[in-house]
Amino acid sequence: MSLHRLTLSELQQEFSEAKVSAVEIAQAFSKRLALVEPKVKAFISPAKKETLLAEAKAIDLKLRGWRRTSPLMAMPIAIKDNICTEGVKTTCGSRMLETFVPPYDATVVSRFRSQDYFLIGKTNLDEFAMGSSTENSAFGPTRNPWNQAHIPGGSSGGSAAAVAADLCVAALGSDTGGSIRQPAACCGVVGLKPTYGRVSRYGLVAFASSLDQIGTLTKDVRDAAMLLKVIAGHDPQDSTSADVVVPDYSKSLKTSMRGMKVGVPKEFFTDGMDPEVEQAVRAAIEQMKDLKAEIKEISLPMTKYAVAVYYVIATAEASSNLARYDGVRYGVRAAKEKGLLEMYTKTRQEGFGAEVKRRIMLGTYALSAGYYEAYYGKAQAVRTLIKRDFDEAFKEVDIIVTPTMPTPAFQLGEKVQDPLQMYLSDIFTISVNLAGVPAIAVPCGLSAARLPIGVQIIGRAFEEEKVLRAAYAYEQATEWHKKRPGLSW
Ligand code: GLN
Repeated sequence: MSLHRLTLSELQQEFSEAKVSAVEIAQAFSKRLALVEPKVKAFISPAKKETLLAEAKAIDLKLRGWRRTSPLMAMPIAIKDNICTEGVKTTCGSRMLETFVPPYDATVVSRFRSQDYFLIGKTNLDEFAMGSSTENSAFGPTRNPWNQAHIPGGSSGGSAAAVAADLCVAALGSDTGGSIRQPAACCGVVGLKPTYGRVSRYGLVAFASSLDQIGTLTKDVRDAAMLLKVIAGHDPQDSTSADVVVPDYSKSLKTSMRGMKVGVPKEFFTDGMDPEVEQAVRAAIEQMKDLKAEIKEISLPMTKYAVAVYYVIATAEASSNLARYDGVRYGVRAAKEKGLLEMYTKTRQEGFGAEVKRRIMLGTYALSAGYYEAYYGKAQAVRTLIKRDFDEAFKEVDIIVTPTMPTPAFQLGEKVQDPLQMYLSDIFTISVNLAGVPAIAVPCGLSAARLPIGVQIIGRAFEEEKVLRAAYAYEQATEWHKKRPGLSW
């Protein structure tokens, strides 16, 4: 049996029934890493074999005699490199934090650690999660396991590629404007962005604080439900995490969609959209109809402003959040500076890449005296209208179904010179973050060039259960989630 092929719940079962040991899991995944990682480059810091084996031996020893496992025990999970891991470098894909070793774990990580999971590595991302392709990483791009000439999506491209290439059993990512769902769609895996406030962000390096959310990348919907249960819930360390009961998401998974009303927003299906994406998503909607869902056309008229609003709000918040990288408190400091001001400017000049600088400049401008109302104030007002669109729609339907990404994964290098084209990769995912609602991307097809396509299912705030239920019913009725890239290397 190839252990790396199993889903989280399958591997967990094997392990809890003592059919495999922690050492066997550690060995299998170390081997997989050695074989496949050089081709995919999903990780900035892959785990060392010796570390994994030492941890595995300790786990097997602990279980001797009385076998009592926790759900994530010995499960190899990858973590995006903007989520703090105590004692393990957390770079955010930036030269600025190239040497930064956090003194504490993010809350999501400490929950995993308390269950004796394996940290299989810290995954690659666009610098500070700004991008849609991982090409903005200071450490080089990740490659799409389906076709190495193509992007894996971004910014959680390393996490998505690691799951797709069976380098880990599941991964965590962060999603500010689509960074979990879009790479999940590109790599043919399941990507869940929970409701804003559902999961603690303590220890997530801030990009745009009113939008950022941690979520999961998994091989199927069952695994997403299981992992969400572990990471969701109030955390006193994060005042934006909501004190709302966490249901047992796995129990909400059903194979029928009977009684569910599904909205299809006409603004997401426009002339000139990619025919393969349109065809795959429309087929998914038909499938939902067969599963007894009631399909209804709806309208989200403010969608057309989402990208513009996002790039004012996200850059404004980023310019403020990134002010802390000044060469004094974290990471690198420019050498041979003359005086404090020069130290600040040189450090930021050398530490940040081009896209991060572009965003800091845009955001600083949008917040500056005289322009604040015209840009940031206006964007916040339109954001409220976008949220209202969703509120109205959810009076009539339980979930909303759309494409995740406008096209299958494009080629590496294709859009690096054209930031606007790159920004448009998130046209279907961004409004979800602006509204703060949960959404999942699930595989729904393959293009003629054998690149994955994903359908997005959006729900009401804190109704991840319905999103997961619909996603699971759809997934179980199809075979798309079982398709794997031809990794014969
Ligand atoms: N691609 C979007 C951006 O560049 C979203 C990134 C994200 O969700 N972190 O900002």
